[in-house]
Amino acid sequence: MFVYADNAATTKISKRALTAMISASENYYGNPSSLHSSGQQAAEQLFNARERIAKKLNAASSREIYFTSGGSEADNQAILSIAENGRKKGKMHIIASAFEHHAVLHTVKKLEKQGFEITLLDVHKDGIVDLSELKNAIKDETCLVTIMFANNEIGTIQPIKEIGRICRERGIVFHTDAVQAAGHIPIDVQDMNIDLLSLSAHKFHGPKGIGALYCRNAIHLHNLIEGGAQERSKRAGTENLPAILGMAEAFDESCENMNKTSEYVSSLRNRLIEGLSEIPHSVVNGDTVQRLPGNVNMCFEGIEGESLLLLLDMKGIQASSGSACTSGSLDPSHVLLAIGLPHEVAHGSLRLSLSEENTPEEVEYIIKEVPQVVEYLRNISPVWEALEKGDIKHVI
Ligand SMILES: *Cc1c(COP(=O)(O)O)cnc(C)c1O
Repeated sequence: MFVYADNAATTKISKRALTAMISASENYYGNPSSLHSSGQQAAEQLFNARERIAKKLNAASSREIYFTSGGSEADNQAILSIAENGRKKGKMHIIASAFEHHAVLHTVKKLEKQGFEITLLDVHKDGIVDLSELKNAIKDETCLVTIMFANNEIGTIQPIKEIGRICRERGIVFHTDAVQAAGHIPIDVQDMNIDLLSLSAHKFHGPKGIGALYCRNAIHLHNLIEGGAQERSKRAGTENLPAILGMAEAFDESCENMNKTSEYVSSLRNRLIEGLSEIPHSVVNGDTVQRLPGNVNMCFEGIEGESLLLLLDMKGIQASSGSACTSGSLDPSHVLLAIGLPHEVAHGSLRLSLSEENTPEEVEYIIKEVPQVVEYLRNISPVWEALEKGDIKHVI
């Protein structure tokens, strides 16, 4: 059996999105900046795509949507822009959560080297930011709060509307990395008091290398890439129209089917958590209610996540151990450390991220295979032997 359960890393492109991309490549190859009719037809498609995305986010205007090369670029542009605005006013304090994606964390670390003060909020055992801690962290010099909508490793969903309200009341700009949330759970930028929001198409069955930044009209954005006047002069470079139309199609499709998909995928998730929790000395990471429909993240004591992944791959199960960006490094995931897991437990993590393409049969297959692989690895593990003998104590 082949089971793709790594949808938080990326998703398979949908038929509708692929068709839209092929059609765009064949029919709208003109440059949207050209004045001739081919160019103008492409410009019209570009305008429509922007409108469709703005509508699904409930943005006040399609002029608030800027196309980028993906989630990472949108995060960088949002944070660097607001930091620059803050610097001009002498406001050089930024608040983020401790388990942001590296596109956010590395950007704020870069700003720290340039003299900004950074506060990283604790996310506690449940993987959720505490609102009173956010309130206490805010200073007169705070120019930006950036907190992700939903975490990419453990799937926990943050109280975005309340965070936005707190920021609005204090006159602080609020950015959210909604890359894991967009197309999966409802987003309303106006109702949720969001000033800037990043999204990426390949996390909701759209193409890779395309994303968008929502930036409320009142907020001044700076460009990262100098050149032509595309994207209202905030992002130079000829627009990737096939990818933009593929993203618009995938976003429409995911939003149209959201209720049905979310109900189906969360029932698969719940069954998977229930089945894998039977494994002794295992723990589910993060809140099980405020959680993305498709996310399962667990730790198994006494084993190495990487070995688990390789053995599961041999059985046709594609999963992940923490963020794809951190594999290749020996450090355990900063997300699992942020929720307070000890190093040795964090090393034994497994993330299975499901989509509407997964079936109940696949879930049962995972529930049958994972315990066998965990048992095999424990039998050959010196750490497990020491745990069983009582030389070291079980933590979970
Ligand atoms: C995938 C991801 C990103 C990066 O998006 P890209 O389009 O791959 O650059 C940023 N933030 C989160 C939470 C993600 O899951």
